[in-house]
Amino acid sequence: MLGGKSRSPNRSSSGINTSVTRRDFLSSTLLASGATLLGGANPLELLATQNNPTTQHAITKDDDFTGYGGVGEYRHSNGNTLSILEAGHAIRDGAYDPLPANIVDLHETYDCVIVGGGISGLAAALFFRRQVGPRAKCLVLENHPIFGGEAKQNEFLVDGHRLVAHQGSAIYQIQYPHSFLANFYDSIGLKTPKLTYQKWSGPDPELPLSRTPYEAAGLPSGHYGFWFGAKFGSKPGMWITDPIGKNLESAPIPQTSRTEWLRFLKGEPVEGKRFEHPRVEGDEISRYLDSITLEQHFIERFGLSRETVRTFLSPVEGGGSGLGPDALSAYSDYAFEMLHPLPEDQSGSDQMFPGGNATIARLMLKTLIPAAIPGPHSVEGVSRNSVNFAALDSPVNPARIRLSCTAIHIAHDGDPAKANSLTGIYQKDGKLYRVHARSAVMAGGCWTTKHIVKDLPESRRNAYAQFYRSPCMMANVAVNNWRFLYKMGITGCRWFEGIGNYMEVRKLALTGLESPTINPDSPVVLTLKVLYAYPGEPTEAQGKRGRTEMLTTSFRDYETRIRAQFDEMFSHAGFDAKRDIAGIILNRWGHAYLNPQPGFFFGKNGQSAPRQVLREAPFGRIAFANTDLAGAMDHRYSILEAKRAIEQLCDQVLTHS
Ligand SMILES: Cc1cc2nc3c(=O)[nH]c(=O)nc-3n(C[C@H](O)[C@H](O)[C@H](O)COP(=O)(O)OP(=O)(O)OC[C@H]3O[C@@H](n4cnc5c(N)ncnc54)[C@H](O)[C@@H]3O)c2cc1C
Repeated sequence: MLGGKSRSPNRSSSGINTSVTRRDFLSSTLLASGATLLGGANPLELLATQNNPTTQHAITKDDDFTGYGGVGEYRHSNGNTLSILEAGHAIRDGAYDPLPANIVDLHETYDCVIVGGGISGLAAALFFRRQVGPRAKCLVLENHPIFGGEAKQNEFLVDGHRLVAHQGSAIYQIQYPHSFLANFYDSIGLKTPKLTYQKWSGPDPELPLSRTPYEAAGLPSGHYGFWFGAKFGSKPGMWITDPIGKNLESAPIPQTSRTEWLRFLKGEPVEGKRFEHPRVEGDEISRYLDSITLEQHFIERFGLSRETVRTFLSPVEGGGSGLGPDALSAYSDYAFEMLHPLPEDQSGSDQMFPGGNATIARLMLKTLIPAAIPGPHSVEGVSRNSVNFAALDSPVNPARIRLSCTAIHIAHDGDPAKANSLTGIYQKDGKLYRVHARSAVMAGGCWTTKHIVKDLPESRRNAYAQFYRSPCMMANVAVNNWRFLYKMGITGCRWFEGIGNYMEVRKLALTGLESPTINPDSPVVLTLKVLYAYPGEPTEAQGKRGRTEMLTTSFRDYETRIRAQFDEMFSHAGFDAKRDIAGIILNRWGHAYLNPQPGFFFGKNGQSAPRQVLREAPFGRIAFANTDLAGAMDHRYSILEAKRAIEQLCDQVLTHS
């Protein structure tokens, strides 16, 4: 619940004379139209060169999908860009069936080919090297121009300050000392998982700030706002600050909704009903929860009406699974708890690097290929220093990472039960290349794996057919300062119509690059998580409809909507989007979240759970990883699924050949 554990809701500058690296499309429209009058140059290209001197990021017509990507190493990899999307859709649409003749055979043979260079693929490469030995050769194929998958970051330059924000994967929890995950963090150089954060500075009285986008630190203290707009008959919209403290008193909603929703926000169960959380995966409570929807569970546990769930809880309270409670197994809200991190009173709660788990991916890369990021093997080292891209795919490395390569075909050389090798084919810059391997790990996620493993048997195909994923767009909005929120007495807020649902000011963890202090005049990045839910429609249909909406809306349209919404909500507090927004980056994830439907986790009608079919054994020489196999989107599951996949290959496949 908001401000609770669920991930789903889950310098001194006056802002005057601020020089920003990039003005957004809209505030440059005048410049662009002037250019057209002057000589017919493509206005968007002109805009790019005039406004992005440091990024060298050419904004062409096509980029009205991708939009501005920021500065730094991640600037060409903001979510799924147009080229990523097109390469993926070519696989789906059968563009390589049958395979064309002109495939270049690289005559390279690996002990393991790993598809996907996100946390799971990087973890698979690490475990492979650790288990099989230093001479074992593996190749990671990753379709983006930089590793990390959903654990990537955006960078802005605002008024000379480098601001970093997450593209997707954001938070991590502190683990019990000496547990497997604690040891893993330690082994990649995350020696002090409890981070140090910016401190308050300046003459303004301090307000509580969150460390993560999901903490809602201002909610319990009354420094949080709910906004109600036209949907609730409020024009102009109205704010309620301290909504819980004020018991939602002036909210323009019916009394029954107010009572029910407050019960949920305060975490009060229905009288006489005690709810026991599942303790271990697969116990009686978890199996019951997996037999009903999350919506049904909220109705039972908090005495809510369906209407209250769908109006106020969807899609935010979807347990970090992308859709609203109506479409999900109730167990999806508790699956994260089964990893049992250190309790909050001992750990100090969730942790987050400025760019989220991108830093964990960078630490993993440095561990796998030390030359890939020069400098010390530490959080500061991988944050300060740039990636040495040439070192990633060097033949001297036993582990190689090949970027901007889309795997299109993986298959055994002969009968999967007997074959000693397999063939992998990937596309790079429009050309196809062939490599050879003794084994493979599919860590790219269900939506591509099912298309590229060409000899996948029917049982696994049927299992993957029950994996539904929905889109998410992470919009990072850099503002010159957040004084407008401070004036309203809030550090975070939530709304129930328009684009996104919530945002908050974060104090950043210190990695050696950030200002050590924060105050209302500091430039910050506000992150809007945009989910696409259509309560009442089937799970798969909601994902498809959302994807269509997200993929057919231009950068310009989204930017217009975000700016208009900010103006509508905050202009009364002195905010002016034209002046105060320094830049917007959109990160579109077409298949962001796995949406587990009832029965996903433990099966139903006597059938095995779909994830179990894929996890129980490799198929021939191919094992399956990625966090989606756990049914819960969490980098810890990405690591654990990779560990299981590599152990299966070592125990059941590679020892026999
Ligand atoms: C918006 C959002 C917020 C999240 N927040 C958190 C959070 O706060 N904390 C947390 O722990 N988790 C979070 N997650 C979950 C996140 O999924 C995991 O943390 C983790 O990053 C997933 O890693 P992965 O390697 O399993 O999958 P991915 O990150 O999806 O990596 C798979 C990679 O394989 C690539 N790929 C796919 N097909 C191919 C192909 N055919 N050829 C080559 N490459 C291919 C993909 O493009 C991708 O780069 C969040 C997810 C989203 C979408």
